[in-house]
Amino acid sequence: MDFIDLRSDTVSWPTPEMRQAMADAQVGDDVWGDDPTVNLLQEQAARRLGKDAGLFVASGTMGNLVAVLSHCGRGAEVILGDKAHTFVYEAGGIAALGGVHPHTVPVQPDGTLPLNAIRGAIRPDNEHMPPTRLIALENTQGTIGGIPISKDYTDAVGVLAREHGIPLHIDGARIFNAATALNCPVDDLVEAADSVTFCLSKGLCAPVGSVLVGSEAFIARARRMRKLVGGAMRQVGVLAAAGLIALEKMTLRLQDDHRHARQLAEALADMPQFEIDLSTVQTNMVFFGLREDTGITPPELAQRLKEHHNILIMAGEWGFRAVTHYWITSDNISQVIAAIQEELP
Ligand SMILES: *Cc1c(COP(=O)(O)O)cnc(C)c1O
Repeated sequence: MDFIDLRSDTVSWPTPEMRQAMADAQVGDDVWGDDPTVNLLQEQAARRLGKDAGLFVASGTMGNLVAVLSHCGRGAEVILGDKAHTFVYEAGGIAALGGVHPHTVPVQPDGTLPLNAIRGAIRPDNEHMPPTRLIALENTQGTIGGIPISKDYTDAVGVLAREHGIPLHIDGARIFNAATALNCPVDDLVEAADSVTFCLSKGLCAPVGSVLVGSEAFIARARRMRKLVGGAMRQVGVLAAAGLIALEKMTLRLQDDHRHARQLAEALADMPQFEIDLSTVQTNMVFFGLREDTGITPPELAQRLKEHHNILIMAGEWGFRAVTHYWITSDNISQVIAAIQEELP
């Protein structure tokens, strides 16, 4: 890459192997179910996550939207975290397009939603209230450090959901980062979920796409909803070919990204100018602050790193976010640390 780009793992380019597989992909009309590469990706994704069926979608946002539309009718309610991607960063699509009412509960510093808050948010049968039709979790919890959510907690939410006859969806955009960090097989981790979305295009390097998995009946409904939102695509095996490599190979190397995130975090923790909670750095994200008496603001430091060192990092008055991925090496992290030392006043 031309830059050391730590803004997100979404910036990762497809690997040379992916580009070759895309060029060689067998294709068909996927709206007719005729694309063998898409079919293979959907089967393999479902098997890997321990579900019956899968559906290739254009993005994580589309996967979550299609999942919510497939679980909930108009006027229904979904319980989700107040820092959930679906609530904050998906343009309000579940409400705008689905007529689904979001009922938020606070995300805790450990990334979980308190069980009693979920229980308290489930609506009684009362004509004044929207019926609760879905509970949604996010793993890893992106907005607060990329924290992985444990199997025990997920199972406990699953028990609560089943007691009330409500399905559980997991926005697992980075579920393979969570499984890697927890050292837990991904199918065990999402066992309690009725549906899961995961991204092929973030740390897994595919250029485009996510997969939604669930039961055969659920995925049949989801196919219709994907069509409804304009997401049914034709010779999409050219994208699924990269997705297969993402799923088969890139899921097996995420511990490297996590090690590089720790490398950066530990170096920052040794510099008195920075504020960082090392306990939150468990996957590929590093959130950190800059002491106010440093004489430079985070956006100013980020600007200097860009201009003088070709290093891109997300910054605001709140601090910084750095995300590691396939194209960030251990040497790159050393370069970033040296550049920061050079640019600090
Ligand atoms: C990135 C992300 C999404 C959405 O994925 P896109 O492909 O960018 O639409 C959903 N949920 C979480 C937690 C994410 O990080």
